[in-house]
Amino acid sequence: LIRFDDVTKRFGDNTVLDDLCFSVRPGKHVTLIGPSGSGKTTILRLLMTLEKPDEGTITVAGKRLFPAQEKERREARKKIGMVFQQFNLFPNMSVLRNITEAPVRVLGRPKEEAEARAKELLELVGLGDRCGARPSQLSGGQQQRVAIARALAMEPRVLLLDEVTSALDPELVAGVLDLLRDIARTTDITMVCVTHEMNFARDISDEVLMFDSGKVIESGPPEKIFSDPEQARTREFLGAVL
Ligand code: ATP
Repeated sequence: LIRFDDVTKRFGDNTVLDDLCFSVRPGKHVTLIGPSGSGKTTILRLLMTLEKPDEGTITVAGKRLFPAQEKERREARKKIGMVFQQFNLFPNMSVLRNITEAPVRVLGRPKEEAEARAKELLELVGLGDRCGARPSQLSGGQQQRVAIARALAMEPRVLLLDEVTSALDPELVAGVLDLLRDIARTTDITMVCVTHEMNFARDISDEVLMFDSGKVIESGPPEKIFSDPEQARTREFLGAVL
């Protein structure tokens, strides 16, 4: 469903992704791990078209994201939703409107239909009674649940999760991770996660990709990568974070 072919991304002299190749099959859950600065967030930002590669091709669901004509890129981009570390909700809109805004404006859904779906999604994330609240009236964990509902409202084929619990108070982390586990188990959405929560990664991932210096240096099922990694660099990284 997702393919990176020989993707290189530089910021000035800093080569962040170096001829990177990897692919993710439909419905799979892939976790990207690796040291800070190894390019994990850059991969998600490329998929969101918040950055563009210097070289290589990126394809999503058979549509070119890069290089591509604007129309094809927009089609590919619509298949992807993202949840950020810092929630990024619209502060001046109600919770309900945060969720309906993009389906109405981008997908052209009728307002009533978008609202009905948003209410279902708010039930799913445990916030059925907070439709009218402003984001600032919610806890961090609740805001992140709204952000997850907002991403799902676009009916993405791919959900990108960028360290979605790192801005949360520790007591709120488990609830958000449980919600994501449920979504992983009960939907066929393809997930690409960047996380420092190794237990969560172990639970939900079909495959773990270990990054170092802009390349995948090792990949495999979580049981293998976490228990019996082949590369010294992976052992060293896991030794520091586990
Ligand atoms: P972390 O776990 O710390 O988030 P990461 O693996 O996600 O790390 P990236 O955020 O992808 O790493 O960053 C990779 C490198 O790219 C870093 O050296 C970073 O300083 C650099 N970088 C990222 N964005 C920019 C930018 N907009 N301009 C210049 N350099 C950037």
